[in-house]
Amino acid sequence: MYHHVSPRPGLVTCSPANFRAQMGWLASNGWKALSTAEFSDALANQVIPKKSVLITFDDGYLDNWVYAFPVLREFGLRATIFLITGWLGEGDIRPCAGHAGAPTVPSHKEAMGEAKEGRFDAAFLRWSEVEAMRASGVIDFHSHTHTHTRWDREISDPIARDTALANDLITSKKILMAKLGEASEHLCWPQGYFDERYQRVALASGFTHLYTTEHNVVRSGVELPRLPRIVAKDKGAAWFARRMAIYGNPILSTFYLALKKG
Ligand SMILES: [Zn+2]
Repeated sequence: MYHHVSPRPGLVTCSPANFRAQMGWLASNGWKALSTAEFSDALANQVIPKKSVLITFDDGYLDNWVYAFPVLREFGLRATIFLITGWLGEGDIRPCAGHAGAPTVPSHKEAMGEAKEGRFDAAFLRWSEVEAMRASGVIDFHSHTHTHTRWDREISDPIARDTALANDLITSKKILMAKLGEASEHLCWPQGYFDERYQRVALASGFTHLYTTEHNVVRSGVELPRLPRIVAKDKGAAWFARRMAIYGNPILSTFYLALKKG
C-alpha cells in the first residue's frame, strides 16, 4: 500500500529514489505485479502465484502520475490506484518528472489543505492523466468512494448513515463506469475504516473486493470483503528485500506479524 511518491517529505510518502529502488528490486528479482483482474482471478481460483504482488495507491494524488507511473512503466510493473471520484480534475495531462514544465507536487499536508478548500487540481489526478495511465496498460483504477467521507463520524442514525454511504459508493461506481467504461467491483475504505454495516452496504452496492488497512499478507482463502495490505515504507532496496523475504514466506510472516502485534 502506497499513497504518495514524491520528493516532498511527509506522512505516507515514499521518495522517488526509494520507490525506484523498491520497484527495481521487484523487477530484478522476478516478482510479478498483478493487474486487479489477475489478482481477483487468483483469489477466485484459490491459487496465488508465487512471487506476485498487488501494488496499490490510495487517493489518486498528482504525484502518482508525475513520479510513480514512469517508474512502473519502465519496470513493467502493474499497479492499482483507488480514486476519490469527486476529487479529479479536467484539463490536459501535465508533464511527468524529468520533462519540461513538470508540476511541483504538494506535500501530504499541503494536499490535505488543498482538498479541504476544494482545490483538488493542485494535488490530485486529472481524468486525462487517468486515461493515459489506463491506455498504457500499466494502471487499473478502482473506487475509493466519491467523497472520501467518514460517514460514521458525520451521521449517527444508522439507517441515514447506510444511505449516505450507499450513495457515496454508487456515485463513485457510476462515474468510473461513465469515464472508464468498466464497472469497478474493488473498493478501498477511506482511512481504512469499516464495520459490519459498512461491509453490508458495499456488498449491496455491487462491490465484491474490499481493501482495508489491516496489516497482513493476502493468502488463498482470504475473505474478499476484508483484504489486508502491507504498508510500504520510505526505505530503500535493502529494507524492501528483507521485508519481502519475510512476507513471501508463510511461516516467517505469521511469526513476524504476530510479534509485531504483540
Ligand atoms: Zn484515502
